[in-house]
Amino acid sequence: MIREAILGIGAAATVFCLYLGINAFPFVLLAILLFAMSVVAERKGALTTGRKERTSTHRVEFGNIGGQEMAKRELMEALDFLRFRDKISSLGIRPLKGILLTGPPGTGKTLMAKAAATYTDSVFVSASGSEFVEMYVGVGASRVRELFKKARTLAKNENKDSAIIFIDEIDVIGGKRGGGQGHQEYDQTLNQLLTEMDGMQTTTNPLVLVVAATNRVDMLDPALLRPGRFDRQIKVDLPDKEGRLHILKIQTANKPLAEDVDLETIAKESYGFSGAQLESLTNEAAILAMRENKTKIETEHLRDAVNKVLLGEKTGKRPSPDELLRVSVHELGHAIASESVRPNSVAHITIAPRGNALGFVRQIPEADAYLYTKEQLEGQIMVALAGTVSEELLFGNRSTGASNDFVQASQLARTMISCGLSSLGIVDAENLQRNVLDEEIRRILAEMEERTRQLLAQYKPGIESLSKTLVEEESMTGEAFHEWMKQQKAKCA
Ligand code: ADP
Ligand code: MG
Ligand code: ZN
Repeated sequence: MIREAILGIGAAATVFCLYLGINAFPFVLLAILLFAMSVVAERKGALTTGRKERTSTHRVEFGNIGGQEMAKRELMEALDFLRFRDKISSLGIRPLKGILLTGPPGTGKTLMAKAAATYTDSVFVSASGSEFVEMYVGVGASRVRELFKKARTLAKNENKDSAIIFIDEIDVIGGKRGGGQGHQEYDQTLNQLLTEMDGMQTTTNPLVLVVAATNRVDMLDPALLRPGRFDRQIKVDLPDKEGRLHILKIQTANKPLAEDVDLETIAKESYGFSGAQLESLTNEAAILAMRENKTKIETEHLRDAVNKVLLGEKTGKRPSPDELLRVSVHELGHAIASESVRPNSVAHITIAPRGNALGFVRQIPEADAYLYTKEQLEGQIMVALAGTVSEELLFGNRSTGASNDFVQASQLARTMISCGLSSLGIVDAENLQRNVLDEEIRRILAEMEERTRQLLAQYKPGIESLSKTLVEEESMTGEAFHEWMKQQKAKCA
């Protein structure tokens, strides 16, 4: 920055002097000298910045990240704390200190952290949890200290108001303290991180924001998640078809594609792929094209690359088309029941894999979730059972995908009994004879199952056609589903 300015001013001054007829030679010499000095200073700066911690070289922007619309939106919202800090402080809002990105490997968490630095015009310093683990006690803790110091110094040197520290694999140092391995070194490192974050000034320059990533959020020490630490969690999940298409477009932007290549089919065939796998897919396809001496990447190359990445990396789950149809039918059952029991309650339906679930219906939580009436509990039991009932209705049989649903349904039935909402009347469920309790649970579930069957039977043709669409699209928004339900109801009436 400064160097460019000096160059510009120097050139302008020289021209001006020539214009006035003054000998500009001494000025030119001075300019060259200044320029050389600034180059040397920068070299030195680069040499002295971190051995372990890396600083970003090229800028990543949110536009370079495909899919992840929700995560990007949430992250940008959180980052406005840094961008509009005057407004934040005038309202007395406590600035954010830590953001936790959670999700499987290769979904773009590192990219997000880098984009966050670009978006907020911050310096970016990163380290990985495993780098803090050393043989010697205390080394990890001092590395944490160095990392924070580095971020501040770098921000000052580069004249930036804020710094983003990215800690990848935070679970390595942020695992539950004292538990399991009981490794003292990990504890000290974690303690140091907590101390640094607690001591972080939220008013003076530069503001520091810690962004951490993990795919094992369940492993983290609760102390890390407390207010003032990583109190903002953002899920970065595997992309659905739309997301994959977006990522493929980004990753092929610099590659020559044959005219007839339809990335949408490739997005469909790469079900369950992460962003990193999609990147590797496009790279493999380019290599295959080169091997055949082609100048453009063809559909066949991309198809072969899908298989190559799959075989190479052995992604755990990859349902067959039949299974996907079954999952769709199952999830639509849940969704229809949910919408019938409580209109506009479905927020999202998806058959893209999430964690160890093949499909998922996200419900908008009930406004007052403290007390439930009997009807509400019955409704929830119906929603839980509707997946299986829907499968049975369309395929004539059930599958093993619903064990979780049944656990949920029987827990709800148990709640009904212990709250005196069952046919047993007011009872002490604790002291109820085991077989009486079991019998009543069974009775409630059977009744609700029958009711669910009658409900879904009206929608059978609808489920049949919509499930095929869902297999194609992989996910459906709440709004689109509400609309569909309205049309179905109009047909039934
Ligand atoms: P993570 O940190 O979640 O493990 P990374 O951000 O390191 O994942 O992603 C690794 C590589 O995979 C990136 O450099 C990029 O090439 C590719 N990639 C991953 N997710 C995306 C995405 N959402 N959009 C574009 N490229 C992605
Ligand atoms: Mg990463
Ligand atoms: Zn289910």
